[in-house]
Amino acid sequence: MAAAGALLFVMSASAVAAQGIPFDRIELRTEKLAPNIYTLTGSPDVDPGHPEAAGGRIGLLVGPDGVVMVDAQYAPLSDKVLAAIRRISPALIRVLIDTHEHPDHTGGNPNFARQGAVIFAREETREELLRPLPAAVGAAASGTDPARLPVVTYGLGSSVKLHLDGETIDLIPLRAAHTGGDTMVRFETADVIMIGDFYRNYGYPFFDPGNGGSLQGVLDAVDLTLKLAGPDTVLVPGHGSIIHRSDLVPYRLMILDVRGRVQAMIDQGKTLKEVLAAKPTAPYDAKIPGALAPLPAGFGNSADRFVSLVYAQLKPAS
Ligand SMILES: [Zn+2]
Repeated sequence: MAAAGALLFVMSASAVAAQGIPFDRIELRTEKLAPNIYTLTGSPDVDPGHPEAAGGRIGLLVGPDGVVMVDAQYAPLSDKVLAAIRRISPALIRVLIDTHEHPDHTGGNPNFARQGAVIFAREETREELLRPLPAAVGAAASGTDPARLPVVTYGLGSSVKLHLDGETIDLIPLRAAHTGGDTMVRFETADVIMIGDFYRNYGYPFFDPGNGGSLQGVLDAVDLTLKLAGPDTVLVPGHGSIIHRSDLVPYRLMILDVRGRVQAMIDQGKTLKEVLAAKPTAPYDAKIPGALAPLPAGFGNSADRFVSLVYAQLKPAS
């Protein structure tokens, strides 16, 4: 069990490895998704943990009532994020919603709180943000600035609704998916959902059991999104390209297939090493960009990380 513990630690560290990112080389690309909804996405090939686009994607609702932000990127990018927002709207940044606690989504929290934003997040996310940050986070986020903490928190159960800029914004809590404190953010009128990180299309799914994430929660989040989304709903993941409902169907089947293969090998008494050697993701590796790209912490690749996480979730404690 000690080896498995060490492995999980390395995997958690790889979730937040931000040291050594050349933040000065990251630019933000603005994309318009609806008349008053935009996203800001980081440059490719700069962030070793996210080669497809640096950091986590930001969502913006703009209008006469002020700006609503979804996620806040790494702290050193706040000036560039603010400049990008100001090119869209001069209005007060009124609300910042954290989809989950990871530093590539919350690092900028204190800087936008100081701009006047009230931070909304799950109670679990606030608790996770109160824990000391791993050294690997470096300058990407502060673990001590009190302004990083959400001001309005909520638990599982019914959605929190915000009524601003002619939109109804639903903060939809997810049970233990990518982390223990995930929120999906739905803009009802625009038919756009910022789904967070339980889905990704660069590399395999990642969930963070060290911060309350779980494989079953990822599957439940996929199922909930399949229920909420229509065929034309724009689904915006925290990383990777923007998708639609139809993209979630093969994603779900892939997770179930890999889970089934790993479970069968556990039933045969196979060790994690043997399961990794059997390459249970092989049928998908060629189709998923970044599937076999190395992870920054030196722990294998995205496929190995996914298989290791699935194994740890399914293996009965001995
Ligand atoms: Zn994340």
